[in-house]
Amino acid sequence: MMDTNAQRQLVGLGLGANLGDPETALKEALRRIQSLPGTQIEVISPTYWTPPWSVNEPQPDYLNAACLISTQLNPNDLLVALQVIEHALGRVRGPEQYAARTLDLDILFFGEQRIDEANLEVPHPRLAERGFVLLPLADIAPNLEIPGLDRVDYLLEALDEEALDGIRPAKIDLSL
Ligand code: ATP
Ligand code: CA
Ligand code: CA
Repeated sequence: MMDTNAQRQLVGLGLGANLGDPETALKEALRRIQSLPGTQIEVISPTYWTPPWSVNEPQPDYLNAACLISTQLNPNDLLVALQVIEHALGRVRGPEQYAARTLDLDILFFGEQRIDEANLEVPHPRLAERGFVLLPLADIAPNLEIPGLDRVDYLLEALDEEALDGIRPAKIDLSL
């Protein structure tokens, strides 16, 4: 649970949705994140539409964004809290919809921490290869150093061009 003596940590979250009403899902997710114990949203990125990758059947584009929060929750409690929000907002209406996602909340980084557990890897192991993660993160935290990697803006610069294919600004404002 929340340790009231714990120092607040700066944490980056990646948000995505491609089923149902992605705008509403991301906004509601942010409202719920903001009301987690010991947790505040510091900044929310602009939004992007992203073609889904490595899927066999056609799926709608993802609405993607990132945010920075400060939290006194520990990494595992934050992960569980995010999974509860995913589940609450991401309930599938029918079995045919299982593949696509109404809501995906990933921990991108957690302060300076490096975690390598079965259920939690931080920084997110695929962060450096994903345009849909680095673009919104670079909008809000370009100078931030990702532990074990590099600054966000340098990671974005180093990205393969294909990793940005088809990604375009969504002009959807998620601010609370
Ligand atoms: P990817 O991780 O490649 O973006 P995904 O988001 O589609 O894939 P999920 O099905 O949402 O994957 O999550 C699978 C598992 O990943 C979760 O049950 C969780 O325990 C684990 N996991 C490991 N590291 C993280 C992290 N940094 N943030 C969120 N979940 C993580
Ligand atoms: Ca993900
Ligand atoms: Ca996930």
